[in-house]
Amino acid sequence: MSGIQVIEHKCVGCKKCQKVCPYDAIDMVEKLAVINLDKCTLCGACVDACPFEAIVIEKATGEKQDISSYSGICVYAEHRNGVLSSVVKEIIGVARRLKESLDKPIYAIVVGQDVKRIAEEILEYGVDEAWVREDPRLGDYAEDVQADVVAAILQEMRPEIFLGGGTIIGRSLLPRVAVRLKTGLTADCTELTIDEETKNLRQTRPAFGGNIMATILTTAHRPQMATVRHKVMPEAKKVEKPQGRIVPADYIPVPKPRIEVLGFVPEEGQTVNLVEADIIVSAGRGIQDPKNVGLIAKLANAVGGALGASRAVVDAGWVPYSHQVGQTGKTVNPVVYIACGISGAIQHLAGMKSSDIIIAINRDANAPIFDVAHYGIVGNLFDVVPELIKQIEK
Ligand SMILES: Cc1cc2nc3c(=O)[nH]c(=O)nc-3n(C[C@H](O)[C@H](O)[C@H](O)COP(=O)(O)OP(=O)(O)OC[C@H]3O[C@@H](n4cnc5c(N)ncnc54)[C@H](O)[C@@H]3O)c2cc1C
Ligand code: SF4
Ligand code: SF4
Repeated sequence: MSGIQVIEHKCVGCKKCQKVCPYDAIDMVEKLAVINLDKCTLCGACVDACPFEAIVIEKATGEKQDISSYSGICVYAEHRNGVLSSVVKEIIGVARRLKESLDKPIYAIVVGQDVKRIAEEILEYGVDEAWVREDPRLGDYAEDVQADVVAAILQEMRPEIFLGGGTIIGRSLLPRVAVRLKTGLTADCTELTIDEETKNLRQTRPAFGGNIMATILTTAHRPQMATVRHKVMPEAKKVEKPQGRIVPADYIPVPKPRIEVLGFVPEEGQTVNLVEADIIVSAGRGIQDPKNVGLIAKLANAVGGALGASRAVVDAGWVPYSHQVGQTGKTVNPVVYIACGISGAIQHLAGMKSSDIIIAINRDANAPIFDVAHYGIVGNLFDVVPELIKQIEK
């Protein structure tokens, strides 16, 4: 068992622990910190805040969880500005496939401000139960409190699988939830299947720069958590007669937020969402000078596409990071991807090789980008790109 304790002879009654406790779980009684165990979630904030090392949390190691009491697949219903993220439909598609092997319900968790409409929308895609917690303190970017609330809902729901998007929101929220629930999380999965013998979730993702595919299992803890790479799995289609229901979770407490959101400043100059773009034209180091970014942007404009970039160009400061495609940038899956002066390093390919049609322009006929390209133009991009723009504009 895990537990928390105040070492009385060390406590001087300075109240620092009380100020940081997000759950109001600490009272001062005769200048001594007293912890209300009904409210305490063992978050550890007071331990860090106490200058006198007067609070200790003992965590049990090797605690065996009864995983047999967990059942069903739960989806995190990510949304922003009141709009359901498209990745959620992809995750529901995965959940529906997993349901065929498990024959268990699909749940969703919807937290935020005024989110009932989002819960209703989710039910149209075949979700059996959408658990909803609405509160103004759970608005956009409040990921610290959202994580507490999502973890509390999961403790009650007890799904065997919990899935979220491999997006900025999912990458911020799900690790926090996994830590609170002391379970495993596999980030950025490209394939999820059920092991027919053990019924464990097989979580597959690229590893070592995309050179191998690793399949990871969470055998001893529940829920088995994974984020799903955006634009890799097909979106679920709406079901003909939705049967699901909304489950209000108003009784789940919302702790005091530790983060204050002052406002949102959109990145300047970012007019296209790279991940959603159907056509992407990317610039590599072959453009040779920042002034030539305009030439690639002009081609992107001519074909109605978005501007992408290799990391070499981003690291040089020629193009903002939001345009970077690849392992440490965005994973894209457009209909057409045009790579201009990009060699085709494995880390770049990791972010774009599932594009429907890849066109490469490179003066080196042996550049690895041609191994994945459907169409290749060997030549100087400063001749090829202006000619392409001319022909397209015609
Ligand atoms: C952990 C890690 C993560 C990484 N993540 C990413 C990532 O997310 N995205 C990413 O892109 N990279 C990433 N990289 C870097 C990656 O390894 C490469 O260094 C990078 O992709 C190279 O960018 P590039 O192709 O633009 O440049 P280069 O490799 O220098 O290639 C330039 C190409 O332009 C061609 N060229 C030059 N002049 C012309 C011309 N006039 N006309 C036509 N062609 C021309 C050359 O033949 C060459 O093939 C990562 C690396 C590491 C180690
Ligand atoms: S911060 Fe430490 S010393 Fe101060 S009241 Fe809390 S437990 Fe006592
Ligand atoms: S562990 Fe967290 S919830 Fe418990 S008393 Fe300390 S700060 Fe409060």
